[in-house]
Amino acid sequence: MPIYEYQCAQCGEKFEARQSFGEDGSRLNCPKCQASNPRKLLSSFFTTSSGAAGSFSADSCPTCSSGVCGLPPM
Ligand SMILES: [Zn+2]
Repeated sequence: MPIYEYQCAQCGEKFEARQSFGEDGSRLNCPKCQASNPRKLLSSFFTTSSGAAGSFSADSCPTCSSGVCGLPPM
């Protein structure tokens, strides 16, 4: 079962969760503040294999996985 990384939209806490394919993580809760509906952080595998120009976002930075470092995606 794949492990995905999520970031809490409330407090910014990052955590990993095992998810079956097809699940979006909306049922997960932040382990820190218990906020629901965390953002799924895309892995570098998915971002580098997409190949679609313009599909990158600040949420998919492979360096920090949070888009806060200011570096452009590789
Ligand atoms: Zn939180």
